[in-house]
Amino acid sequence: MSTGTGWRDIPIGGLIVDAGNSINYKTGGWRAFRPLRDEEQCTQCLMCWIYCPDSSILVEDSKVVAFDLEHCKGCGICAAVCPKKVEVHALTKQPGKVIQLVEEGSELCR
Ligand code: SF4
Ligand code: SF4
Repeated sequence: MSTGTGWRDIPIGGLIVDAGNSINYKTGGWRAFRPLRDEEQCTQCLMCWIYCPDSSILVEDSKVVAFDLEHCKGCGICAAVCPKKVEVHALTKQPGKVIQLVEEGSELCR
């Protein structure tokens, strides 16, 4: 019979001791797809900023300026909610929306 540590001796897990610590976790490493924004055709409606679950749409002076790629998980919600359609996206050269997803690591990510 084992005489090792019993369950009562193990510290309780799953506790968030310090609030607001999610910024410390670089969730961008989970990303399989990367959002790309056509800057010229963006209307700055900020729908992407409102809906991004990871606060990864960076805004300055009420304008979208970039994605926070250290925390963007590539969920694609920004692309789904973006209301602006484009005939040709400046970066992907595809029709669709101002934000489009491309595979992480593809040439367009460089
Ligand atoms: S892909 Fe998801 S996490 Fe990344 S910027 Fe868009 S909404 Fe935010
Ligand atoms: S939702 Fe689309 S058009 Fe609106 S700010 Fe974001 S990228 Fe630009």
